[in-house]
Amino acid sequence: MHVARERQLSRRSLIGGAAAGAVALTATAAGTAEAAATRDVDVAIVGGGLAGLTAARDLVAGGKTVVVLEARDRVGGRVVNLPLPNGGWTEGGGEFVGPTQNRIKALADSLGVATFTTYNTGKNLLYKDGKKTPYATDGLLGSVPPVDVAGLANAAIVQSALDDMARQVPVDAPWTAAKAAEWDRQTFESWLNANAVVPSAKFLLDVACTSVFSAQPAELSLLYVLFYLAAAGDENNPGTLERLTDTAGGAQESRFVGGSQQVPIRLAATLGDRVVLNAPVRSVTRSGDGLLVTADGIAVTARRVVVALPPPLAARITYDPLLPASRDQLTQRMPMGSIGKAIAVYDTPFWRADGLNGQVVSDSGTVRSTFDNSPQDGSYGALMGFVEADEMRKFDGAGTDTVRAAVLKDYATYFGDRAKTPIAFVLQRWDNEAFSRGGPVAYAPPGVLTRYGAALRAPVGGIHWAGTETSTYWNGYMDGAVRSGERVAKEILAAL
Ligand SMILES: Cc1cc2nc3c(=O)[nH]c(=O)nc-3n(C[C@H](O)[C@H](O)[C@H](O)COP(=O)(O)OP(=O)(O)OC[C@H]3O[C@@H](n4cnc5c(N)ncnc54)[C@H](O)[C@@H]3O)c2cc1C
Repeated sequence: MHVARERQLSRRSLIGGAAAGAVALTATAAGTAEAAATRDVDVAIVGGGLAGLTAARDLVAGGKTVVVLEARDRVGGRVVNLPLPNGGWTEGGGEFVGPTQNRIKALADSLGVATFTTYNTGKNLLYKDGKKTPYATDGLLGSVPPVDVAGLANAAIVQSALDDMARQVPVDAPWTAAKAAEWDRQTFESWLNANAVVPSAKFLLDVACTSVFSAQPAELSLLYVLFYLAAAGDENNPGTLERLTDTAGGAQESRFVGGSQQVPIRLAATLGDRVVLNAPVRSVTRSGDGLLVTADGIAVTARRVVVALPPPLAARITYDPLLPASRDQLTQRMPMGSIGKAIAVYDTPFWRADGLNGQVVSDSGTVRSTFDNSPQDGSYGALMGFVEADEMRKFDGAGTDTVRAAVLKDYATYFGDRAKTPIAFVLQRWDNEAFSRGGPVAYAPPGVLTRYGAALRAPVGGIHWAGTETSTYWNGYMDGAVRSGERVAKEILAAL
């Protein structure tokens, strides 16, 4: 029987440990001029996001020794709390949770992180053709923005067709759907052009697409979009487009008290010095009957390795021996969406007094979708807007001030001149983050799922793949990340 040894030859920046309750947002500074540390464990986990940390939790519960190697100086990956000058915080990445996202909710529950309802009182705002139309979401149309009647009728038909098609896609193997080949050789755009024939219906679907994927419809495989819809549910509730896009009853229904990063921070704290920060993994090499994982400042030998990264980031690690061509080609073909979050902070959530809930759907501008991101007690106001897909790309190379000016112009258009003078402004650009390079998810253009989809989860020579992109339900979401960590831990516990 393998006896795992753990030894650490130098001090590294760690999070958690025995200091219960000491849940810092970032680790203390790493030591300087460190000697390389080595460890020998059952399972080395690459990536300290929700997926990697969940895998670690379950493997430890299964009696295995683990180390989590995290490149950044913090845990959480695409989930991060950002401090505000007024002493508050805001969320720069994954934030909302909703019905059927049972695994992230169970994890948060187990760590004492409660949820509260996203601010949703008052009217939404449709901004289209230069005109503002406030609308209630508890009427006949539900959350659908009130475009012209022909557009509404067309959008309803399109939505129900998409949901019907999604029901024909198996979430564990979308490439086996009866029409997989037909659906995977077209873009979502070409399907919309043939079906969303009324311009205002096309607008509604376009805005839903960029909000969900941070990619334009022309970039996405129709099969992939149908899979994503099918995955927006659980074993008992088939996924729907509505559950993806809605606030009440949908994926934006709730938020975490204290901010979403409380979940990975507290989870990491339970793992103590098994989590090593500032340790970007550079290579995974077969070594005897185990694997050698080399990161900056630390080398780990392990019987199994979990790579809990989005596919394009996993491709930046060197593997020896080479991975099968199918796995590498998959990772060459799944780009990250282009997304930034812009949060403007005000003394008060002033739009509430105008009967608005802070949620906008717009056909123009840098920010085309917004939320009221004020803290639960409303003690100050925060407007959060997504900068997505082509709108984000326009700012490649631009400084924060340029983006800020464009964003505040939009906020003023939607909410009036008061929006021009926030007390703080935070821009979190995921395309410029070295260890994400985009978000919210790595997506599949045409031809990828049917040719390479089977390589998403198939283990290779002791290396197992996790991360939200490998999840069957809530792929692309925090819930999917947790599910993938649970699945990969089961896979390894069954094998070791
Ligand atoms: C702007 C934005 C908004 C979002 N909104 C929501 C939302 O409202 N609700 C929701 O559920 N989801 C949302 N998401 C998606 C959600 O955040 C992700 O699905 C989830 O956090 C992914 O977790 P993960 O563990 O799979 O991957 P990640 O969080 O990406 O974790 C991977 C980790 O690996 C690390 N890493 C990378 N390369 C290396 C390396 N070579 N060596 C070691 N470590 C490495 C990274 O630093 C990171 O910590 C959003 C994402 C973004 C960006």
